[in-house]
This record gives sequence, structure tokens and C-alpha cells, in this order.
Amino acid sequence: MTATLAIGPYNASERPALEETFQAHIVANATEACGLEAATRAEIKAIAYKGHLPFGAAEMDLFPNLGVIANYGVGYDAIDVAAASARSIKVTNTPDVLNDDVADLAIAMWISQGREMRQAEAWVRDGNWATKGDYRLNRKVSASKVGVMGMGRIGRDIADRLAAFKTEVHYHSRSEKQTPGWTYHADPVSLAKAVDFLFVALVGGAATQNYVSKEVIAALGPRGVLINISRGSTVDEEALLDALENGTIAGAGLDVFVGEPKINPRFLTLDNVVLQPHQGSGTVETRAAMAKLQRDNVGAHLAGTALLTPVN
Ligand code: NAP
Repeated sequence: MTATLAIGPYNASERPALEETFQAHIVANATEACGLEAATRAEIKAIAYKGHLPFGAAEMDLFPNLGVIANYGVGYDAIDVAAASARSIKVTNTPDVLNDDVADLAIAMWISQGREMRQAEAWVRDGNWATKGDYRLNRKVSASKVGVMGMGRIGRDIADRLAAFKTEVHYHSRSEKQTPGWTYHADPVSLAKAVDFLFVALVGGAATQNYVSKEVIAALGPRGVLINISRGSTVDEEALLDALENGTIAGAGLDVFVGEPKINPRFLTLDNVVLQPHQGSGTVETRAAMAKLQRDNVGAHLAGTALLTPVN
């Protein structure tokens, strides 16, 4: 008898707490969860969900007593929240605890791209430094014009870090925010035109599909660099690849992709990109904090107390 089902690739450090706290049944993915016997599914009151595969109405209907889906991650675009609300199922996420790590990775990709750290390291490792001399000059990132697309929790932490680099900060959100003198753009194209480095920190999902459109990418211009830590879906990836291949923008730093982890192979042949395996929140410390917040939400639901971080 268990009231909690954990779905997803939980690692060895996460599984014991789920098993000891809730006697959770752990399965690898939603397909496996849906294949459980009907009597087992009927016992489930809480799902601890991890991963980016969709969990929608059809899956929810297989769990007649489900009351909460506690997502591991702030981005819950894999879960059909409207379908959950229609079934009086609450959804929770893990905001804030991961802001620092995701913002740090955005800054790291920015510096790595501008200062060509990957290519410069290859210069050392290949022995070229000793035989051919100094590595070529690259690009200053401090004191540049930077933009943040989506001034939410993570966007704000990126902007705060960028400000410490003496940059001129611009941003776009659906509404103007209280900021220390940063320039607001009501229009995404206007933001892209104003800056050399554009950081994308939007939510994923249908509403922001291709928000960074072909026009936004074109407006960045030949010295423009796009840094994306949000979701692959927020950027028109075909337009981005064309622009990177044609040199109509200078480069990109990407932690998220359409169809990840099987990313478009065109990225792999490009030298003007920094590619990361969706590891924005991927530190030991932050993943532990995310897992704890997820468990606290499951525990609150089972105890009948207020959820810590509900999204519906
Ligand atoms: P947040 O505080 O909710 O901020 C989201 C931003 O998206 C806000 O600026 C918001 O605009 C904008 N937005 C929401 N709906 C929109 C719409 N329909 N049209 C245009 N803009 C819209 O979220 P967060 O905590 O910063 O997280 C942002 C995202 O980062 C997550 O959803 C997730 O996808 C991604 N993420 C990635 C990693 C990683 O490992 N790479 C880790 C964590 C999170 P307003 O300012 O106008 O409200």
C-alpha cells in the first residue's frame, strides 16, 4: 500500500528519502506508471514527477484518487495544468531554490562564448600554444549591452549578475518591472536591436513557442549572441541554426534544445556555439534543495496542510 508514486529518473541520492518518507513506489517514466495495475493506481494520492515527458489528461485519468502532482523543477510545461485543474488536481513546482545555479550557468556560457574558452583550451591541449604562439584575440563581455527576455525570478538573477559586469542592462517582459535604471522594451524585437548579448529566461509551453522569433534573431545582428537557459521551445530553432550558419548572428550559448536530448545535429558542426546538456540546476546542492521542496509539497498534501509552492 502506498499513496505516493514517484515518476522519473530519480538518482541514488534521491530515492531513499522518497522511499523512507512516503514508502513511495518509484517508476522510470509515465509509460511505466500507466502500466501499473488498476488497484495500485487507485491507491495513489500524490505523484512526485521528474522529467520533461508530457503528463496530460489521459495519464491523470488513470489515477482516480490523485490530488497533487509535485513537479521536480520550476518549469512545469510537461504537465497539462489545465487538465489537472479540471480534475481538481493541484500542481506544485520548485521555484527560487535553483535561481542561482541557472543564472550562474547563463553567465558562464556568456563568458565562455565571448572569450572563446572552449577553442582556447583546445589551443592549449593540442600543443598549439607552444608551437604556434598566442591564441587569437577574442571579445570583451564586460561593459557590453545586454538584454534579458523574461524578467522573472531567473531573469532577475541573471540581470543582477550582468549589472555587476558593468553592462548596460535592457529587458523585455509583458509588464515593466521595478528595476535599478534598466531599460524596458515592450517589444521583443526592440530589445534584440538594442543589445549585443540576449539572455532568454522565459517560461516554456505553448504561449511562448518561438517567442524568440526569426525577426528577433535577425534584429540581434551580426555581433549578436543568444544565450538560452529557458526551454528549447521558446526559440525558433531553425531560424537560429540558419543565422548561426550564415553568420547573421555571431553565436549562441544553449542549455536547452528542441527535442533534447536528441538535439539537431546541425548544432554539432558549428564552432560559434557553447552547448550544455540542460544542466542549469544541475549541482548537488540545488538538486537536493529541489528534491526536498518536492517532497515537502507531497508531504503537505498527504497531511492536508497548505502546499508550499502551488501553481494552480
Ligand atoms: P518566472 O519567474 O515565472 O518567469 C518567467 C518569465 O516568463 C517571466 O518574465 C514572464 O513574463 C515570462 N512569461 C510567462 N508567460 C509568458 C507569456 N505567455 N508570454 C511572454 N512571456 C511570458 O519563472 P522562472 O522561475 O524565472 O523560470 C523560468 C524558466 O526557466 C522556467 O519556466 C524553466 O522553463 C526554465 N528553467 C530552466 C532550467 C535549466 O536547467 N536550464 C532550470 C530552471 C528553469 P512577465 O515578467 O511578463 O510575467
